[in-house]
Amino acid sequence: MHPSAEQGSPYDVIIIGAGFAGLYGVHQAARAGLNVLGLEAGADVGGTWFWNRYPGARCDVESVDYSYSFDEDLQQSWTWTERFAAQPEILAYLNHVADRFSLRERYRFEQRVGAARFDDASCLWTLRTETGAEYRSRFVVFATGCLSAPIKPNIPGVETFAGEEIFTAQWPEEGACLEGKRVGVIGTGSSGIQVSPIIARQAEALTVFQRSPNFSVPIPNRPWTEQEQTQIRATYRQRREKSYYAPAATPHASIQTKALDLTAQEREEAMQDRWSQGGVLFNKVFPDQNSDLTANELVRDFAVAKIRAKVENQSVADDLIPTDHPIGTKRICTDSGYYEMFNRPNVALVNLRREPILEITPTGARTGERFIELDTLVYATGFDAMTGSLLRIDIRGSNDARLGEVWADGPVTYLGFGIPGFPNMFSINSVGTPSVMANMALHSEQQLDWVLALIAHSRAGNIARVEAREEAAVKWTDHLMEVAEGTLFVKANSWYMGANVEGKKRVFMPYIGGFGNYRRFCDEERDNGYPSFELG
Ligand code: FAD
Ligand code: NAP
Repeated sequence: MHPSAEQGSPYDVIIIGAGFAGLYGVHQAARAGLNVLGLEAGADVGGTWFWNRYPGARCDVESVDYSYSFDEDLQQSWTWTERFAAQPEILAYLNHVADRFSLRERYRFEQRVGAARFDDASCLWTLRTETGAEYRSRFVVFATGCLSAPIKPNIPGVETFAGEEIFTAQWPEEGACLEGKRVGVIGTGSSGIQVSPIIARQAEALTVFQRSPNFSVPIPNRPWTEQEQTQIRATYRQRREKSYYAPAATPHASIQTKALDLTAQEREEAMQDRWSQGGVLFNKVFPDQNSDLTANELVRDFAVAKIRAKVENQSVADDLIPTDHPIGTKRICTDSGYYEMFNRPNVALVNLRREPILEITPTGARTGERFIELDTLVYATGFDAMTGSLLRIDIRGSNDARLGEVWADGPVTYLGFGIPGFPNMFSINSVGTPSVMANMALHSEQQLDWVLALIAHSRAGNIARVEAREEAAVKWTDHLMEVAEGTLFVKANSWYMGANVEGKKRVFMPYIGGFGNYRRFCDEERDNGYPSFELG
């Protein structure tokens, strides 16, 4: 039982979310002697890896990097079995962390925060959960995730479907029985591309409904050898040191030479090397691949040839090859046999651009050309990314200002953490941070360390109210867009741009200037005594 709740006195800090970020924040806040409470909508810890239990869910960053670095004993004692960890192993790891540092006792689970209100007089936040419980605190940290607000597609008749409906983002813990079923998967982003090949092996028939194709790189997953494990343990500290200021918070970097300064053979070798390494690394073979269309097209041609070589029916391959965005400007997916799956006799692709679903009925999906009978519909339809988890909460700041209204013209933050008008409130891995452009395990550590340092600073100085300055936030938000406009990323209708949500303001939401650069901005702000915050 939490003493503050019993006595009615406010917590020092409430952290919402029990994913990589929230768990780390709760641990470090407790270590710093703060009276901290964690609130989590789910029934247990894990965040992304608690919810996204679909078969095939797997990390696209190497396991030894996608893990906490703050505790040498933890990283030395945990053994990752595979190069790219699957969801059960990541969830087991986060459970291990929660047990090891007794974090569960600081959390209340199944407490979805529905409203958060700041009181100007007392400088306190009151959080109300959907169960009706209320909690008060001096500071509130929204570690609510950048990909945690799933979207259900707005297709006519979608609510009439009488078969089983499953969201990849809410896959049932007990699993789903798909043996012998006629299954439809809607969505061909990273989740759809990971889950479909496994469903294809179980189902009687699988129909993949594709609105936009994506590029995907096969994941060369395998167990770590004992020799590799020993080597990683011996050099873990150096591996992390290399990552802390690296562009993607991993020890890997693109080669230094621009694509067009290499010979054709050197380019081919570089691309083949990255393709074989797998995962998101193919997104940065060359330093100019995301800024120069000619360089990008060389990489694209390489990937297209790979798709064509895997898919037997070339008209299916035509449908699977993206033509609407430069490669990498939507997140490159990672798969295990996705393209090869279309060679199976029980798998069909429906190109929704040519043949949209007109309606979903109780027994299937009707397109302009046919009716497809379905027992199960799997929605891999993505998330209201970056802002969704915040805007689904009724957040009111100073003078009762509503975050939804303040952000009506697009989100404005200072370094992602601070929102003018919302004192003593911090958002994590949010708009204005590199977020998914970097390894989010180390990113989460950096974010919470920074916020907890500012909280410590304000407590040491008896400061009751901490608020990002408007001009600093506007400047940072302009900088985000300016950096993005120097790249090809703005050419894609991606979730980075908010393009997957109807009516959402199109702005490039992550900071794309690299994790190292972002971290330097944060360090500078902290080292200069937080000039971009009003400390009142
Ligand atoms: P989350 O893990 O999303 O945790 C947020 C928590 O907040 C959730 O548990 C949620 O229930 C809770 N929450 C939200 N709103 C409320 C509320 N109102 N009240 C109470 N609780 C709330 N990143 C990578 O770097 N590499 C990968 O390979 C990778 N794979 C991914 C695969 C999938 C399927 C998805 C969806 C994302 C993936 N990501 C990946 C991104 C991933 O989200 C981050 O790596 C990381 O797990 C985010 O951690 P977090 O703690 O910030 O947020
Ligand atoms: P996503 O990339 O946004 O993909 C959603 C898919 O659903 C898209 O193909 C989209 O088509 C489709 N869709 C949405 N609404 C639709 C509708 N009404 N009708 C038909 N199709 C519709 O979401 P995601 O696959 O869950 O991935 C989100 C992010 O999570 C990834 O980019 C990545 O950062 C992370 N992730 C990583 C991994 C991993 O490999 N480790 C795995 C899963 C997720 P349009 O493109 O046309 O909108």
